[in-house]
Amino acid sequence: MNKTAIPETITSTPGDPRAPKRGANGQSHPPIVPDPAISTLLGGRRPLRSLEFFAPKDDTGSEALRIASEALQHIRPDFVSVTYGAGGSTRDRTAQSCDFLRHNFGLTVMPHLTCVGHSRHDLTEIIDRIHAGGFRNVMALRGDPPKGESDFSPYQDGFHHASELVALIKSRHPDVCVGVGGYPEKHPEAPSLDADLANLRLKVDAGADFITTQLFFDNTAYYRFVDRCRALGIAIPIVPGILPVLSLRQIQRFTALSGAGLPGRLLTQLEAAGNHDETAEMVGIDWALHQIRDLLAHGVPGYHLYVLNRAKAALALTAGLAA
Ligand SMILES: Cc1cc2nc3c(=O)[nH]c(=O)nc-3n(C[C@H](O)[C@H](O)[C@H](O)COP(=O)(O)OP(=O)(O)OC[C@H]3O[C@@H](n4cnc5c(N)ncnc54)[C@H](O)[C@@H]3O)c2cc1C
Repeated sequence: MNKTAIPETITSTPGDPRAPKRGANGQSHPPIVPDPAISTLLGGRRPLRSLEFFAPKDDTGSEALRIASEALQHIRPDFVSVTYGAGGSTRDRTAQSCDFLRHNFGLTVMPHLTCVGHSRHDLTEIIDRIHAGGFRNVMALRGDPPKGESDFSPYQDGFHHASELVALIKSRHPDVCVGVGGYPEKHPEAPSLDADLANLRLKVDAGADFITTQLFFDNTAYYRFVDRCRALGIAIPIVPGILPVLSLRQIQRFTALSGAGLPGRLLTQLEAAGNHDETAEMVGIDWALHQIRDLLAHGVPGYHLYVLNRAKAALALTAGLAA
C-alpha cells in the first residue's frame, strides 16, 4: 500500500514561516483562539445541530463546498465536520476546507481523521498540527479498506482499530474532544451487533467523548442502539446522523454500503417519484423532517446532518423545524 501524504494545510502555527499573512503590510493573523469542545456544547441545555461536509475531490468540489457553506452559515450550526478522504490530494482539501470554514465563517470545525495509509508517527504529526491550528475536536475513525479490498489492513506501524487512534489523540492532547462512529444497524464487518457494541465500548474506554451514528432511516434502530449502549455502560452522548435522501439510486448505494435498512414506505415513495429528482428530493426532506422531529421529541442531544455539500435540504429542514 502506498504511503499517503500527510495533509499540509492545518499545519501552519503562529510563528511558522508558512503561517498565512494578513494583508500586504506583513501583519500576522491574531493569535489562534481554540474552538470550544463539542462535549461542552453537548452538555448545554438545547439539542445541537451539526453539519457534515465531505472533502472535495477537485476545484469544482471545493467551489461547491464554498457555495453550500456560505448559504448554510445562516442556519448557525453549532459545529460542522469535514470528512477525511481515502488518500491523495483530497486529504489536503479536508485540511483546506477546515481552515476555510473556521476562518471565513468563525465556525467550530471538527476535522475527521482515519488510520488509512498512516503510521503512528504520521498520525501523531497530524494530530499535533490539528491542535496547533486551534482545532479542539476530532472525529477519530479507522477508515474503510481501499476499493476492491474486503479486509482492512493497517499501514506499516499503523493502527488496526479506531480505538487506538482515540487513545493516541487523548494521550497527546487531553483537551481535544474526540468523536467516534457508531452503527445502529451494526458495522458491516462485525459478526454481530453484540460484538460491534463491545468494540464500541473499547473506543469509549480509550477516551471517546461522543458518538455520531451512521445514517439510518428508521428511528427505532437508533432507539434500540442507544438502549443497548446504555445497558453496556456506554454513557456518552450518542448523536444521530441523518441523511436527507436525494434519489432512489443514491439511497440504494448508501444502504448497500452502510448496511442501513430501507423502510418499505420510504422505498415506495421514492419509487413513485420515479426519475423526477426534485420530487425524490422532496420525499427525502420530508422523511428526514419526520425523523428529526421524532428524535427531538425523544430528547436526543442533537442531530448531525449529512449535507453532501448541498445547502437545499439542510435549509428546508431548518425552516420546517422552525414551525
Ligand atoms: C459518523 C461517521 C463519520 C465517518 N467519516 C468518515 C471519514 O471521514 N472518512 C472515511 O474514510 N470514513 C468515514 N466513516 C466510515 C468509517 O471509516 C467506516 O465505517 C470504517 O469501516 C469503520 O470505521 P470505525 O472508526 O467505526 O472503525 P472501528 O471502530 O475500528 O471498527 C471497525 C470494525 O472493526 C471492529 N473492531 C473494532 N475494534 C476491534 C477490536 N479491538 N477487535 C476486533 N474488531 C474490532 C468493529 O466492530 C467494526 O466491525 C465514517 C463513519 C461514521 C459513522
